[in-house]
Amino acid sequence: MVKNNYKKDTKNILAGKRKKISNSFVNSPIYRGSTVLFDNVEEMQTKIKKKNTQTLFYGRFGNPATFEFEAAIADIDEAYSAVATSSGTAAIVASLLAVLKTGDHILMTDSAYGVSRNLTKGLLKNMGITTTFYQPNIGSNIQDLITTKTKLIFMESPGSLTFEMQNIPQLIEIAKKHKLITIIDNTWATSLYFKPMQYGVDICIQSATKYIVGHSDAMLGVITANKKYSQSIRKSAHNLGSCPGPDDIYLGLRGLKSLSIRLKKHEENAFKIIEWLLKQKEVFKVLYPALEKDPGYTTWKKDFEGASGLFGVILKNTHKEHIYKMINNLKLFNIGFSWGGYESLILPVNPEKIRETYQWNYKDLTLRIHAGLEDPEDLIYDLKNSFNILRKS
Ligand SMILES: *Cc1c(COP(=O)(O)O)cnc(C)c1O
Repeated sequence: MVKNNYKKDTKNILAGKRKKISNSFVNSPIYRGSTVLFDNVEEMQTKIKKKNTQTLFYGRFGNPATFEFEAAIADIDEAYSAVATSSGTAAIVASLLAVLKTGDHILMTDSAYGVSRNLTKGLLKNMGITTTFYQPNIGSNIQDLITTKTKLIFMESPGSLTFEMQNIPQLIEIAKKHKLITIIDNTWATSLYFKPMQYGVDICIQSATKYIVGHSDAMLGVITANKKYSQSIRKSAHNLGSCPGPDDIYLGLRGLKSLSIRLKKHEENAFKIIEWLLKQKEVFKVLYPALEKDPGYTTWKKDFEGASGLFGVILKNTHKEHIYKMINNLKLFNIGFSWGGYESLILPVNPEKIRETYQWNYKDLTLRIHAGLEDPEDLIYDLKNSFNILRKS
């Protein structure tokens, strides 16, 4: 259905649609259901064999809307296949458990999302799987960390909280040389701004809760894989019982259709806010790889097609209590976890407490900001008022 010569935005709109729509609504209905009925015993027996192949079999294995969402993500990602999970976290767990076994060793970026880090210290450790964290800018030196037990490299670029870029093509090349599996958490960029499959990654996970759903009203995850890992990933997600609810799948499908225009506006708003922030004497640094001064800029420019609306800010010489007061005074930026919705968010974060391979020197002064879809002038006005409070305190 998706012709190769269509432009990007057209391809995204067509993604996942396998048939021409006629005599029906544009969108898939919401399928509520557990039991699927079969015409006879023989059909039931055939379907049992096909249950891990996007076949309508039992609610937990997906419904036609789930399959459409998966096909759409696989199309956009240029992946062999995709499987939807009940959250981004479920996608991370299903991917790791699909390929790891007791005695394995993994390499994980020190800038990985909290859930990924915590898994290595809990579930994976309890299973006898060991982890070595690596610095995001490690480059070819990652070879020194590979042992005979190493099974995979887990990447995330830019990293959670600290936004360092990684040389993903180089890490994948090294992984291939050593026959290691590669997994990437691509939530920040989404498949529209970075396509890890083009660089040969094996498995790519996204928290669709963020930009794909885009309205902070559902939890959803998705894993894409190449042909080699496609089946094991799907089985792993199914074995874990990770099935997204019908409404959440619907919201994921709907969100995908406007993802491209929303991302452009998030990026534009982020740039405008950052431009203002960089002129304030209290701002020491902005962490955003799309800025020319950012250490990750060259890598971002080379591999990515755009930037999303999430970035970090380091303030200088300011007390924690004063920053908290400033945050509490904001009217448009709300305090809350997650991001990727239409609303602007702000959080004080403490990366210095969780980095193990290098020191994060900016104690207690890092903020994480998500630029929402409001008018940037209003967002800047809001920040301006709160910075005045900071100045007076
Ligand atoms: C939020 C997030 C996740 C987890 O997604 P949930 O849907 O909240 O479980 C994973 N990775 C990154 C980078 C995230 O920001």
